[in-house]
Amino acid sequence: MKEPIKYYSTNLKAPKVSFREALLKGLAPDRGLYMPETIPTMTAREINALSGMPYYKVAYEVTKKFLYTELADDDLYNIVKNAYDFEVPLEKVHDEKHIMRLDQGPTASFKDFAARMMGRLINYYLKQENRRLVILTATSGDTGSAIANAFYGLNNIKVVVLYPEKEVTARQRKQMTTLGKNVQIISINGKFDDCQALVKKAFSDHELEYLHLSSANSINIGRLIPQIVYYFYAFAQLRPGNDNDSIIFSVPSGNFGDMMGGMLAKKMGLPVEKFIIATNENDEFPILLDKKVYNKIEPSKNCISSAMNVGHPSNLARLVALYGGVMNENGHISKQPDYNLMRTDLYAVSINDELTRKTIKKTYDHYQVLLEPHGAVGWAGLECFLEKYGQNYNNKKLFVSLETAHPAKFPEEIHKILNLDPELPQSLKGLDKKQEFIDSCNNSYQDFKDLLKNSF
Ligand SMILES: *Cc1c(COP(=O)(O)O)cnc(C)c1O
Repeated sequence: MKEPIKYYSTNLKAPKVSFREALLKGLAPDRGLYMPETIPTMTAREINALSGMPYYKVAYEVTKKFLYTELADDDLYNIVKNAYDFEVPLEKVHDEKHIMRLDQGPTASFKDFAARMMGRLINYYLKQENRRLVILTATSGDTGSAIANAFYGLNNIKVVVLYPEKEVTARQRKQMTTLGKNVQIISINGKFDDCQALVKKAFSDHELEYLHLSSANSINIGRLIPQIVYYFYAFAQLRPGNDNDSIIFSVPSGNFGDMMGGMLAKKMGLPVEKFIIATNENDEFPILLDKKVYNKIEPSKNCISSAMNVGHPSNLARLVALYGGVMNENGHISKQPDYNLMRTDLYAVSINDELTRKTIKKTYDHYQVLLEPHGAVGWAGLECFLEKYGQNYNNKKLFVSLETAHPAKFPEEIHKILNLDPELPQSLKGLDKKQEFIDSCNNSYQDFKDLLKNSF
């Protein structure tokens, strides 16, 4: 039996920990992000064997490489089988250029892939230790529903989500409030910042320690590992049994969690020739790669691909670490990464809103493929890459661009551009008829605390 993989902090000032500790802690005590000290590999033969497998089986084979020392094979199998009970469509746009739709999960966003597996892993360890905890989070719309859905029905976890009464759409609200069971949704008569302030205060309130409050933030290593899987899945589905081939992915990026999953897939042995990193107008990374100068964008720019409005991607420290550098949580680089190698592996491009809209129109008109703003940034990135380097490839070259949300999540924008209303996916249908469970609370810490105490 091999040694379990240890996880180090990107700030290099915290002890190395096991997967279980990294998962339950989230952030390292030195405020760095956990990274695997060694990255397991898959041979070409193992990758070939993934061809034709359903998604959850690919998830089992790939994540087992990291987790086989951490939980029993059967338990891991059951976790992924339960987490991935939806389709992962690969759609040809033209030639060998495809989009992968990561939008068929319960909240119709690719965040379901990470959140559902992380939730189940956390629940697994809590159950073993006969412990419970309360996940507390504030949302301005989408994160709350992804978290609530990911932890829904898990016995050892309660979920409490605060949202600003007047700042979320009815559809966003109903994705959280119609769940019930272990999910408690609290509407606050205030703004998103007020909700966040209440959550922060609760985390530092000693009188609430008995509740074991925890956050489920996006930097958890338990969210990164599941995001390796779909890169393998795409290759295995589209190039069955062909290990002489390679693939180019385009990844619409905000906090860089998605692309870090891809980077780890490459390090594990997936033959990825290049990652196209497509950002919106928050272009701090394309500038870093081009000029070796890093400046956060504060405040971040508001673009129509709203989930990518990130002026300082939290997972960037992980990417820098993979290339031998050190970046702290504030974006300060104390050791430069190997930029030449980075440029060999990555092509980064910033796509503005105008080009994003044009891309939605063009892919629909030319190819009858419907994209939403995030996926359109990815596809536009792919087209920019082809414009520059397309002459190096024949039309058999395999490209996959990631579609990270369902078009029906952005009906206003799609309607403006295409004058049509995207059909709701199964997961979002019927919400209108379901009963909502909402607790209302004043924007007052005492009131909120009383409500929490009375709930548990
Ligand atoms: C979060 C999100 C992204 C960006 O993913 P990162 O991992 O933060 O780079 C892209 N598209 C959608 C729809 C998202 O919700």
